[in-house]
Amino acid sequence: MNEFELIDYFFAQTKKDRDDVLLGIGDDGALLKVPPRQSLVVSMDTLVEGIHFPVETTPYDIGYKALAVNLSDLAAMGAKPAWATLALTLPKADKDWLKKFSRGFFSLLNHYGMQLVGGDTTRGPLAITVQVHGFVPFDRALRRDQAKPGDLIYVTGTLGDAGAGLNWKIPYFLQRLNRPEPRVEVGLALRGISHCAIDISDGLAADLGHILQASKVGAQLFVEQLPLSQTLTAHFAPPKSWQFALNSGDDYELCFTVPPKNKAKLHKALTAISCGYTCIGVIRKKPGLFMYYNNGKKCISAIKGYKHF
Ligand code: ADP
Ligand code: MG
Repeated sequence: MNEFELIDYFFAQTKKDRDDVLLGIGDDGALLKVPPRQSLVVSMDTLVEGIHFPVETTPYDIGYKALAVNLSDLAAMGAKPAWATLALTLPKADKDWLKKFSRGFFSLLNHYGMQLVGGDTTRGPLAITVQVHGFVPFDRALRRDQAKPGDLIYVTGTLGDAGAGLNWKIPYFLQRLNRPEPRVEVGLALRGISHCAIDISDGLAADLGHILQASKVGAQLFVEQLPLSQTLTAHFAPPKSWQFALNSGDDYELCFTVPPKNKAKLHKALTAISCGYTCIGVIRKKPGLFMYYNNGKKCISAIKGYKHF
């Protein structure tokens, strides 16, 4: 199979029903239409074999995850997904591998009504780069630099499961590691309620750290509030479980801040889409990330392994 046959067979079959795509795959570039009064949100992530996924990961999971981690970035901006481009570097044109890879990729692409509008195909060590494009009204984007002292800090779902899956091959942990569910609906629901979010790809402490740095604020976190799955709790006791929640990545949950006056709105919006979420702390003026027990005492053990910025 040559490069063009491969593109035709596996990738040019994307659904072509979006009317904001004037010209998709097949020309030197795609022609696309952005809705009026909306920002185009563009984000890109690369997955390299052995670094971003273990060598034994199935091609279906690789295809799924390559898109999922990008959709997670759109979610963290409050953007509605629209288009994607795909750069594939393959050691060889393996039909069976490509079939499974494209199934994983298109399952998620079609779920969000997106269209693949272009890409690039080259030979080399396995690496996948996906770029996604989405829309958000001008004044409604969720940005890292918009946290304000007094805002409550929330996370969706549970933390630490994917990280545990790197070393503990338990089905639930592996599911969390290989099939992260991008929180796209949450990002959309947060428009107008929150102005600040990030997706948790490197671990809560590091990613919340990015919010604190960009917003020039600090945070008080309550370690006993960190949302942990039953499976994580069954395998690890605190403070180990807290360390997973704080320091391990790949969960792709959202961390976001909300002014206290929007608490009721938040409850309504996230209950409507059945999304679990937890308040884990408060934004403070004093720079730095500080951990506490619920009784107000400082917690030192949970931050072991966490590098202060
Ligand atoms: P060019 O030589 O002009 O860069 P290519 O031969 O790389 O064009 O690609 C031909 C067309 O196929 C382009 O529209 C490109 O966007 C698309 N394409 C190439 N690789 C992929 C891929 N992996 N997935 C989707 N579209 C692709
Ligand atoms: Mg090209």
